[in-house]
Amino acid sequence: MSTVQAYAAAEAGAKLEPFNYELGDLPSEAVDIKVHYCGICHSDLSMINNDWGMTEYPFVAGHEIVGEIIAAGPDVKGLAVGDLVGVGWNSASCMHCTQCMGGSHHLCVSLESTIVGRHGGFADKVRAHWSWAIKLPEAIDLPKAGPLFCGGITVFNPIILGGVKPTDKVGVIGIGGLGHMALKFLNKWGCEVIAFSSNPDKKAEILEMGATRVVNSRDPEELESIQGSLNFILNTTNVSLDWNSYLGVLAPQGRLHNVGAVLEPMAIPAFSLIMGEKSVAGSPLGSPELTATMLEFCARHDIYPIVEEFPLDKVNEAIKHLEDGKARYRIVLRMN
Ligand code: NAP
Ligand code: ZN
Repeated sequence: MSTVQAYAAAEAGAKLEPFNYELGDLPSEAVDIKVHYCGICHSDLSMINNDWGMTEYPFVAGHEIVGEIIAAGPDVKGLAVGDLVGVGWNSASCMHCTQCMGGSHHLCVSLESTIVGRHGGFADKVRAHWSWAIKLPEAIDLPKAGPLFCGGITVFNPIILGGVKPTDKVGVIGIGGLGHMALKFLNKWGCEVIAFSSNPDKKAEILEMGATRVVNSRDPEELESIQGSLNFILNTTNVSLDWNSYLGVLAPQGRLHNVGAVLEPMAIPAFSLIMGEKSVAGSPLGSPELTATMLEFCARHDIYPIVEEFPLDKVNEAIKHLEDGKARYRIVLRMN
């Protein structure tokens, strides 16, 4: 038995308070991880506030975890006590359904999510199935690595799914935690990258991240000025924007790919798709194998999120900072 010292919300929107719980016996295929750092994703905020109607309280958020394995069950494969690993939104999958057997564990029908119906990484320890504890490459920058396990893989997978080519002209809507990592990936992929942002104060930093131009994400006239120019647009915002104008910005056969948790239905006129053979798509994170591939790509190109560190006991200030739109660009909690 192992006691976890965590921070939890007792009800929707509540401040996080110290909270202890018991992990129970270690299942044979599970690992326990001593958390070193944990990023704060906008999804943590949405879950704390029960925006998606699936939060169970007391609720421990945190799904951008890096740390060290401190216990491993006897049937754990490929990992040992002492290994440095990362865990993202997913913490277990069945390992025998069609999706798992095909390598798409993130589409498993009985996927376990790190913060749905169980407790996450705003804590000193967390548990995961071995398949979702991804070994970190040597020499990785540990304080900056956590956000790669949710935000990073969430924007890396669409580049693969969309068949984005180095010669493509692409766009990213919303330059927050996910969006700024997408800019960095697409820049190193070789693309010309346009950033769509609603905040003019971010412009200089956005250009440094590798965007060639910043367009106001909420200005129809600016969108009109680049009509028909982009092969791929990735939306990372969770708000309703003028999607039809964005379809207009796509070149023929272009793809508008959504990863932002937009709650309202997205209005997509059929003819805006039909005339240019355009498509609209979406995706959750990515498989363990693709996550490991992304980590190698990050190590090769020195791609990391820009992070602001807060100690765990300042978690409420950190959450307010994110809620106020002040995060530049991903907040990471330090556990010690
Ligand atoms: P974040 O750091 O808060 O960034 C969101 C960005 O959206 C903001 O920085 C802002 O960028 C833009 N934005 C916010 N309000 C806006 C408004 N009213 N109008 C226009 N733009 C606005 O959030 P995040 O952590 O990157 O997460 C983004 C979304 O992805 C969330 O909905 C999250 O739940 C979701 N998510 C989905 C998955 C998945 O599996 N698909 C995984 C992780 C997260 P600018 O200042 O540049 O405008
Ligand atoms: Zn997330």
